[in-house]
This record gives sequence, structure tokens and C-alpha cells, in this order.
Amino acid sequence: MAGEPLVGVLALQGDFAEHAQALAAFGVATRYVRRARDLVGLSGIVLPGGESSTMLKLLAIQDLEAPLGEFLRSGRPVLATCAGLILCARKVVAPEQRSYGVLDIEVARNGWGRQIASGTFALAVRPGKELPTTMSGVFIRAPRILGVGKGCEVLATRDGEAVLVRQGAVLGASFHPELEFRHPVMESFVRMLVQPHAQTATSD
Ligand code: GLN
Repeated sequence: MAGEPLVGVLALQGDFAEHAQALAAFGVATRYVRRARDLVGLSGIVLPGGESSTMLKLLAIQDLEAPLGEFLRSGRPVLATCAGLILCARKVVAPEQRSYGVLDIEVARNGWGRQIASGTFALAVRPGKELPTTMSGVFIRAPRILGVGKGCEVLATRDGEAVLVRQGAVLGASFHPELEFRHPVMESFVRMLVQPHAQTATSD
């Protein structure tokens, strides 16, 4: 599609407004997605942080569950943060719940601890990725990635554990890049939108 990218932000619940603001800081236009027709014409989509179990209920109520699944599998760029990452995982535990499976990862909800354990932490970026070698991440009752399958690449870690992954056009973070001004992960998503075949990562 010609012209400037238009990014959908799933806006049923959670920190969708912060995502819209974070993308505006890169000059990217957004549209809130609340029903299937809102998906038409989008260049990519953001699944924000919030409460993944509530999002699942609202997706069903809005008849958005299947159309969103189709969009997530369409090859257009997806940024999934925190609860969004949980929605994209292959398997969810603690407790188990359904998910789209577009990221070959297993996640435990709230696995990085409860609210009291939330905060900003230093991350290490795997060598050779188009990201600064160090960056920070805001973790809020964040999902812990328990396992990463072959098709999914780990881009960054916290204490040696995967917290930023990519599989094809789907970029997933356990943390909240949208809460930091012009975070490198938001920048990397914006690059994927403007050059759909750009690699955030180089293969090793
Ligand atoms: N704990 C939330 C969940 O399980 C995710 C938290 C977040 O998105 N900040 O869905």
C-alpha cells in the first residue's frame, strides 16, 4: 500500500493510548481497533499491555477474535507488549489460557513477579542486532518467557532470560517500550513498517 503507514492499536483495554503516543513521537499515525472493520487498510498492529484474560473476553464480545487472528498471520508487522505478548504466545501457563500462537514461545503470566517486583531493569541485546547493545525495559507484572521454539529469535535478555523476541513480522516484548520516550524497540517496529522486509536481527 502506498503512502504513510497507518498502525492499528488494539484498544479494548490496557495502555493503548501510550502506544499511540509513542508512535506519534516517530510521526506514525494510528487508529484504535475495537471492531473487525477497524482492521481494514492497516499497515501493522500493536497489541498493548493490560490484562490478557480481560482482552480475550473483550475480543470475543466484539467478534474480533478471528479477524484479529487473520491479521496477525497476514505477515504485516505486529508489536506485542506484555499482555499483547501473552496473546501471541504458542502456550500460556499460570493459568493456562487460549492464545494465537504466532510467537513460538511458552509464557507464564506474571512470571517476573507481582506489582511489588515491577520496575525498570537493564537488558542485554544479543550481538549483531539492529538495536543498541544495552537498553532498559519497564516490567509491570510481566510475563516470563519459559521457552523459545526454533522459529523464534531472541533479541534481548534480562538476567540471561529472553524478554524480546521476533518471529517473522511479529516482535514481542515482555516489557513496555511504549512507556519510555523513543525506545529502540518502538524504533525497530517503525523500521519494520517502512521497510517490511527489514531485519531487526541478522541471522547467525
Ligand atoms: N499480568 C498481565 C497479564 O497477565 C500483563 C501485565 C501487563 O501487560 N503489564 O495479562
